Amino acid sequence: MTEPVLMWFRTDLRIHDNPALHAAAQQGRPVVAIVFETHHQWARHGIGPRKINLMRAAMASLHDSLAARNIPLLIETVADFEASRQRIAHWLQALGARQLFFNNEYEVNERRRDIMVCRDAAAQGVDVQRFHDQCLLAPGSVNNKAGLPFRVYTPFRKAWMADAGPALTAPLPAPAVQAPFEWPDHLLMPVSSVAEPNVDPLWSASEDDAHQQLQEFIDERARQYHQERDFPGLDSTSRLSVPLSLGLLSPRQCLYAAVRFNDGRLDGGRSGFQTWINELVWREFYRHLLVAFPELCKHRAFKPETEVIRWRHAPDEFAAWCEGRTGYPIVDAAQQQLLQEGWMHNRLRMISAMFLTKHLLIDWRQGEAFFNQYLLDADLASNNGGWQWSASTGADGAPWFRIFNPLLQSRKFDATGEFIARFVPALASLPPDSRHEPDGLQRRRCGYPTAIVEHSFGRQRALDAFGVLGKPVTDPAAHPELPL
Ligand SMILES: Cc1cc2nc3c(=O)[nH]c(=O)nc-3n(C[C@H](O)[C@H](O)[C@H](O)COP(=O)(O)OP(=O)(O)OC[C@H]3O[C@@H](n4cnc5c(N)ncnc54)[C@H](O)[C@@H]3O)c2cc1C
Repeated sequence: MTEPVLMWFRTDLRIHDNPALHAAAQQGRPVVAIVFETHHQWARHGIGPRKINLMRAAMASLHDSLAARNIPLLIETVADFEASRQRIAHWLQALGARQLFFNNEYEVNERRRDIMVCRDAAAQGVDVQRFHDQCLLAPGSVNNKAGLPFRVYTPFRKAWMADAGPALTAPLPAPAVQAPFEWPDHLLMPVSSVAEPNVDPLWSASEDDAHQQLQEFIDERARQYHQERDFPGLDSTSRLSVPLSLGLLSPRQCLYAAVRFNDGRLDGGRSGFQTWINELVWREFYRHLLVAFPELCKHRAFKPETEVIRWRHAPDEFAAWCEGRTGYPIVDAAQQQLLQEGWMHNRLRMISAMFLTKHLLIDWRQGEAFFNQYLLDADLASNNGGWQWSASTGADGAPWFRIFNPLLQSRKFDATGEFIARFVPALASLPPDSRHEPDGLQRRRCGYPTAIVEHSFGRQRALDAFGVLGKPVTDPAAHPELPL
């Protein structure tokens, strides 16, 4: 038997543009692939059941795509990262593999695991080849003139743009069909526990569907993206965060497709494409931050001085926020979208997160954990980045004295109240203008709760609490709304 090489899949559940898989397939040896369901680890990381179900479905889909190329995928259920480390050592030894391939993950526990895996492999005489696939430019490679990581998005973006052009090569092809793999005589052919296709009613776990979704967005919505992306009722964004978070798509594939339809331009060109590319750069920015500042993985504020803020312990109010019972229709509709769809529009994530951290003065870490449990695109870097932005504790965060008024946000971004009516049907019978802020009688008639906190009271309470950080440079009254 020719010894195979081992390819370890993680958050890169795709066969196209997968640098580790591509390199493994270039070795002139059979490829055997492995992926782990690490249920205890997932529980410790607060990942919710719906996302776990989608990940398992994506593994099953990957299994079929690889099988069509005669690449066996072992899907093993183990407790945690430590157990996966042991199983990798086991399979390297059992298969006689001398090479291990994987794409990097950047969170602290994942990095610790990989250090140990590399040590084990070295002791076994196995060569480990690691690749970057989660960002177009590897974390750590975009720095300021002093060689330090950027803490602010705009200069990061500028530096990123300067390097990204040459890096944006065509996505890698899927591996070719290999000769059927012959399991060594001393090994029983393992049976993978391929998940029963437990289909999510709204989200596909297939790589092919992710490609189609990308193409549809580019063809139908990207051109108007800059004008329409802020209106949750329009469904005008790509919703690619879910396939991106599972690794069904790579950022390179997204950027490459956008640039092709933007007359070859990564920067500038058509406003819709440019704006969308900028959002993908935000994604890169947050990943680069996570690597540069690993404290972000440990529930620490990016700005340590904000740790003095006295968050309120208010479990009942937190529960009302989670369940969409705050009495602020736009916040409640947002939370309902999360609970029903496993996804929330970006504008609403900002409104809802700011409402929790400012109007209710509840610690951003509680909100982050809740989003992490329910979002199908849950991702430590972007979720943490978004929450710390909203709570004004983060890199390039919203200044603490600029607090969204949820009622104005609602009127501006859901002017017809259609989105509210869709997710809070109790208010659908009200005239559109009343849906943003029903009066007492309307609330009683619709069985809708009174507001959990009065806007100006909540705002002032937040300003007072954040005031310990020092006076704002500008008069807060001049910034009733955050212009975004
Ligand atoms: C409080 C909060 C929590 C968030 N949690 C997550 C999360 O767990 N996972 C996640 O992927 N995004 C998160 N975001 C960012 C953003 O809301 C989502 O990426 C976006 O709504 C996904 O929808 P889309 O794919 O249609 O995005 P599009 O508008 O089509 O954008 C394209 C892609 O760009 C990236 N992107 C867009 N906006 C941002 C942003 N603000 N920050 C980082 N990347 C961005 C995403 O990968 C997205 O798929 C969060 C934002 C906030 C304010």
